[in-house]
Formats: sequence, C-alpha cells, structure tokens
Amino acid sequence: MEKLADNITILNHPIISHNLAIIRNKLTDTQNFKQALKKISYALIYEASKNIPMKEIEVETPLMKTKCEVFDDSSQLIIAPILRAGLGFCEVASEILPFANVHHIGMYRDEETLEPVWYYDKIKKILDNKSKVFVIILDPMLATGNSAIDAINNFINKGVKEENIIFVSLISSPEGIKKVSSKYQKVQIITSSLDKGLNSKGYILPGLGDAGDRIFNTVE
Ligand code: URA
Repeated sequence: MEKLADNITILNHPIISHNLAIIRNKLTDTQNFKQALKKISYALIYEASKNIPMKEIEVETPLMKTKCEVFDDSSQLIIAPILRAGLGFCEVASEILPFANVHHIGMYRDEETLEPVWYYDKIKKILDNKSKVFVIILDPMLATGNSAIDAINNFINKGVKEENIIFVSLISSPEGIKKVSSKYQKVQIITSSLDKGLNSKGYILPGLGDAGDRIFNTVE
C-alpha cells in the first residue's frame, strides 16, 4: 500500500497487479474481465471499510465470553455506485457490507465538454443524524475528476460530512486525483492504480478503455 497523502491510498498487491493485467488487456472477454474486477473489488472495499466506525460488543463462544468489534449500527452507510461502470463494484460492496443502503447515481460524460450530465439521483433524504452518515462512492475510473467532484458535492449538499466520504476507483489519473484532492482534502480516495495521464478525450492512459463497455459487453 502506498500513501500519496493522508487521504490518498494506492493499493498494491500481487493479486491486484495480476488482475489489473487481465483487465487492461483488450483481448480479455467480458466474463474474465468481470472475474478479475471482482477480485480487485474485494481488496478495495475492504480498504474503504476501514473508515466506517466500529463498536465493541460481547459475545459468548462455546468456551467463554469475549469482547468483539463490529460495525457500529448507529451509523448509516451508503454505497453509491456511479452508473453505469460503478455497478462493477457494487455486487461485492453489497456482499461485504450488506447493511448499507445503495444509492445509484446516474451521470454520463458529455463527450465534448467532458462535464458530467446528471440523469438520476433519488437521494432525497439522508437519515436524521447526518454526522453519522458514511458514503462510499464507487466509480472504476477516476479520470478528469469532474464526475467525482459532482458526486461528492451532491452528498455534501445533502449534509454528509466531507471526512465521511470515501471515493473508490480501480484506476485513477494524476489529473483526477489532483483535482478531487485539492478541492476535498478530507475525502478518502482509494484506488488500485495511478496511471500516466489522460488523452484528449479524457480517457485514462494506459487505462482499460471504457469501463462500462468492458463490464457490460458493449464495446463496438
Ligand atoms: N471512463 C472510462 O470508462 N474510461 C476512461 O479511461 C475514462 C473515463
């Protein structure tokens, strides 16, 4: 694990490297792409979960009573996949954190301006005690940073504390990381790769192409 700053984690591990190689390869078919993505997703969501509060409880084993740590159920956890590529992380996130609410965020990127265009946001109400809401935003590609900033801003406007927001990406560009972390110093960014940069169309290089197309088998 490499810490670029207090709030930026680049997870590296041989299993992540191996599966990133599968994911990046343009010859990898959808089934193998999704399998490799799933394996990396576990590591990323485990890391993201470190930020969620725990509490101590007592349980009784067959031999004796003991203290254990469990997620604090007085906090609300929201998993927020940015459609559509964020769905690639969502199954694993909901499996690991089944008590979370899943709030889908619908945004696509205007190919000319590279700005996000919203089409779906059902997050009207966040629970009463807003200081105890934690949000894990899921988007495999942190490219220009524009969608990430909009998604983070959306939760902050709804009362979520900046330090309770975690942004999880598979691959990030230096431009995207810089943009998000300079605007939101307290948001945790967790990624499994920091790539070289962006091309003129806002795609990450070397990247993996269009994540949504690779996940949903719609590459033309
Ligand atoms: N979105 C993608 O799917 N891929 C990129 O490289 C950048 C944004």
